Amino acid sequence: TLDGVDVTLGASVGIACFPECGQNVEGLLRSADMAMYEAKRAGRQQYRFFSPEMNGRARSRLMLEESLRHAIENDDFVLVYQPQFELASGRLRGFEALLRWQHRVAGTVAPNVFIPLLEETRLINRLGEWIFREGARQLAEFKQQFGEDMVLSLNVSPVQFGMPQLVTDLQRVLDSHGLKPSQLEVEVTESALMQDLELTQAQLRHLRELGVKIAIDDFGTGHSSLGYLRQFNVDFLKIDQSFVAMIGADVLSRHILDSIIELSVKLNLDIVAEGVETEEQSDYL
Ligand code: CA
Ligand code: CA
Repeated sequence: TLDGVDVTLGASVGIACFPECGQNVEGLLRSADMAMYEAKRAGRQQYRFFSPEMNGRARSRLMLEESLRHAIENDDFVLVYQPQFELASGRLRGFEALLRWQHRVAGTVAPNVFIPLLEETRLINRLGEWIFREGARQLAEFKQQFGEDMVLSLNVSPVQFGMPQLVTDLQRVLDSHGLKPSQLEVEVTESALMQDLELTQAQLRHLRELGVKIAIDDFGTGHSSLGYLRQFNVDFLKIDQSFVAMIGADVLSRHILDSIIELSVKLNLDIVAEGVETEEQSDYL
């Protein structure tokens, strides 16, 4: 009992045996440590014996983490830009900035490989500001090319969304590049919004005060809870490309898409459909 509050403790245990798992105390502790992390990954409150395969897994993870750190130091990341068009007029309204890792040997590394690791290791915090700055710099260039009112969509990861300085960082980027807040859109996934409801409400309020637009990313693919749509003050739904790809495929999938669109209209939300690749898809939307 701490200060009158009952605290429940749990333990995850990693077990390493001498001499199979290490020749000295240091080696044994390292092995036990790896086994403990496996126990945690398996859902906590468990125990695991160390095995050589764990060593292999931990090593390849470490290597990937190492090269991620190098990549950050060497500026091996680039942003690519996906255009967004207004369907009715065909007018270019802006761009979404997407992060890519240009590995010196392996080539372009797919985002689903490195973004979860960036999140897990919190290295995303070191990249986040660069993404904001680089995106804003590019937007300034796009404005000259395509018109003053271009908007930039930035993906904000769950870790970034949970950081108190997010709004200050965005404000600084707006100021230093002379951008209007209305030209900036922040995309957050459902899972980022659901991790801490109180914090989410506060963060959304701060973003709104700043004047940027907020979109729910990949709508319909995560743990969608329709109840929160009413609570959270957002501007856009982004329909995941998997739903767009189903246009023309089967009637049932189209019904799902129709329902998402109808829901958005009724809730007075704007819609961005991702991954439109054919005229048929665009006509249907
Ligand atoms: Ca996105
Ligand atoms: Ca998306």
